[in-house]
Amino acid sequence: MALRRAIDRDEIGVHYQPIFALAGERLSGFEALARWTDDELGTVSPGDFIPVAEESGLIALVGRNVLARACADAARWAPADGSPAPGISVNVSPEQLAPALPREVEAVLERTGLAPQRLTLELTESAFVSVTGETAAVLADLCRLGVRLALDDFGTGYSSLHQLAGLPLDVLKIDQSFVAKLDDPRTRTIVTATLAMAEGLGLAVTAEGIETEVQRSALHAMGCSHGQGFGLGRPAPVESAMALVAQGARAAA
Ligand code: C2E
Ligand code: MG
Ligand code: MG
Repeated sequence: MALRRAIDRDEIGVHYQPIFALAGERLSGFEALARWTDDELGTVSPGDFIPVAEESGLIALVGRNVLARACADAARWAPADGSPAPGISVNVSPEQLAPALPREVEAVLERTGLAPQRLTLELTESAFVSVTGETAAVLADLCRLGVRLALDDFGTGYSSLHQLAGLPLDVLKIDQSFVAKLDDPRTRTIVTATLAMAEGLGLAVTAEGIETEVQRSALHAMGCSHGQGFGLGRPAPVESAMALVAQGARAAA
């Protein structure tokens, strides 16, 4: 009930976490992360309210609002130095992968004027546990729009390598649990193998949860192209994102 009220009152906002190309630490884009601040409950983490939204069917509404807000914000980002405008990544729950999604995304792109190739939709592995004909058609329609697709939290869920080969993906996001344990040789082996696999499949890779310079330089040396994390930039309100864009794309870590 509180979530429904928050949606009605437009109390679910969006913060933006920068994503950097690890070579030269150039700003490449932002991930939109839903934020809910309630009068009584205080700040509610998306880790808590997204599952509630999914169970209650409210995720369609939350997701639509976040997508619309993120695209509208990103459409206004133009670096002063003429470098390419940063991309925007939006998380999409498995429940949202319905036949209506491509039309919804297309309408938002038209309304905001955001170029489709600047939008990446982040899907988790659970969305692909069983890719039915219907889901495959939705993914194909999204690709036809020209938006990019990312596989979020890679390696933590039901990673079906068989399906990975057949999915129209552009980006693989290495889960932060691997980045946190990079000093463990066995974890490094898994990350190295993941990077090799991604390269072979023609996927860009973003490492999540980079907190230290040691992690950043290790991932860069291993050939990981992109990264995000508290050590590079925390999720912050749109004003901070705009300031970073205006700076002309240099990392402000
Ligand atoms: P995610 O998509 O994997 O997003 C990354 C999460 O890692 C974010 O948590 C971010 O704040 C956190 N993070 C980033 N850098 C670091 C770091 O260096 N260290 C640590 N410890 N954490 C870091 P957040 O914002 O709490 O979101 C949690 C999850 O909730 C997201 O994971 C995503 O799955 C989901 N979520 C957030 N917003 C939305 C949304 O609009 N729609 C949907 N469907 N899911 C969302
Ligand atoms: Mg994500
Ligand atoms: Mg993730």
